[in-house]
Amino acid sequence: MKYAIQNAKLFDGEKVIEKGSILFDENGIIEVSEKQLYGDINIDGMGKTVTPGLADCHVHMGARVESPVQRAAVIAWQAQDVWRYGITTLRSAADSDDCDIKVRDLINEGIIDGCRLICAGTPIGITGGSGPNVIECDTPDETRKAARLRIKATCDFIKLSGTGSMGGKNSIAGLEEMSEEQIKVVVEEANRTGKLVMIHSTNQSNKTAQWAAKAGVRSIEHVQMNEETAKTMAENGTYYCPTIICRYEIIHSTDPAREWQRKKADPEDLTRKKKALNLCQKYGVRIAAGTDYGVGDTLAKELAIYVEYGLSTVEALRAATKNAADMMNLGDETGSLEAGKHADIVVFDGDPILDISDVKKVAMTFQNGKLVYKKAEF
Ligand SMILES: [Zn+2]
Repeated sequence: MKYAIQNAKLFDGEKVIEKGSILFDENGIIEVSEKQLYGDINIDGMGKTVTPGLADCHVHMGARVESPVQRAAVIAWQAQDVWRYGITTLRSAADSDDCDIKVRDLINEGIIDGCRLICAGTPIGITGGSGPNVIECDTPDETRKAARLRIKATCDFIKLSGTGSMGGKNSIAGLEEMSEEQIKVVVEEANRTGKLVMIHSTNQSNKTAQWAAKAGVRSIEHVQMNEETAKTMAENGTYYCPTIICRYEIIHSTDPAREWQRKKADPEDLTRKKKALNLCQKYGVRIAAGTDYGVGDTLAKELAIYVEYGLSTVEALRAATKNAADMMNLGDETGSLEAGKHADIVVFDGDPILDISDVKKVAMTFQNGKLVYKKAEF
């Protein structure tokens, strides 16, 4: 079945086409043009905006569900539920039982439907460190072994728990945990096997982020980066995954039940995150959008914060499409509207290029050229 969306505003992952058409089917995108294109089904895109399917590059699926069996069920459900938010790719940042990887395999084998899942599974960290369910390693040799175990488990990304975090009960946020040597051996193993590495890094000193960027880690999560780190990341082609929404919601919440969290959170964190985004713009560090949340409308909120903090709407959308795909080595498949790419496409009512909050108005989502979500019209 060939679909044509006509007379729509298009954002192809790089630039905006004010009025154009896109023709696609389950084999991929056939043509993008300023001319009128016709398919078996023609959709009037007047007043609508078409973009590549969105990606959230840092999610925790099935979070807070203890049992692995139940968590896998939640992940499978979430991999479909995201379609109503225009999401077609998720990068799962951790699952201590590799439930994310197992669900990914079911989707890839065509046993169940779902969005594209890129998975880290069980993270690597230090003994007694921030992640409660990491592979604990304290020497470079142990770390190399752990990296190999992750590769054996068919992870897409090796996730490193580089520093303390806000999450774990016994965790000291921002404490330096993994050593430079440990990070290096993981990247070495990843490079040998075509895997990528992502690192949780929150120390204010930026030491861990510096080590990671120099070692060749693909993406640094959360870091409130300084000028020197931004430069190092730009030089090494390291991506930044900001994950601002969690803290933003706590600090802006007026809910009395969240008072204790508000007291614990440092409002300066948001100032530092804003600075980090601005440093990315200054030095050309590529941003890949991520929320550090479960799944839902949080990606739309995250993108709105990027714009509030100084990114253009196009830069924010690029972070959730082209940059995200390139970061995950998926640039040949998805993240842009180009002939030959998979037809992962979102149609929005309104215009998120003019007003980023319109990313909440998802009208239709296509995954691999299949209509997987359509807003109900009563
Ligand atoms: Zn996380």
